[in-house]
Amino acid sequence: MPLTGQRRLIISPTDILNIKNSFEESIGVGVIGALRRAGKHSAQHYSDIIIAKGLKGEEALKELTKMLEESGWFRASWEFNRRGEIGVRIYKSFESAAGNRRDGNCHFISGFLEEAVERLMNWENIYCQEMRCIARGDEFCEFLILR
Ligand SMILES: [Zn+2]
Repeated sequence: MPLTGQRRLIISPTDILNIKNSFEESIGVGVIGALRRAGKHSAQHYSDIIIAKGLKGEEALKELTKMLEESGWFRASWEFNRRGEIGVRIYKSFESAAGNRRDGNCHFISGFLEEAVERLMNWENIYCQEMRCIARGDEFCEFLILR
């Protein structure tokens, strides 16, 4: 579902990379925590929209994915394993698409996924770690969400 009724902004992945690099030049490695926090704040916003529609759990995560795909963020697939972990593969990520860097991890998306899963799955004390990244030459970004 598109974000109807809200102002939308089109920004290229190159612009996002330039903003990210500028923050890194200004504040150093602290940019990692700042981007994770920004991702969490963004996920709060999207999660509130989905929760207001009465959706929870995996159904809510599917709706979130649909919203983000339609908004051009990325294409994602979720995998729930028996250990209670979630794997997320993200293709054509806006955060890594313009990057070609050894250290090009997707910190904004890591924070975003962590907060979204906490809110929509009602899980606590979780951590999202990026295992693969398009910016490092992988075919997709892959995140593992641990409880
Ligand atoms: Zn990545």
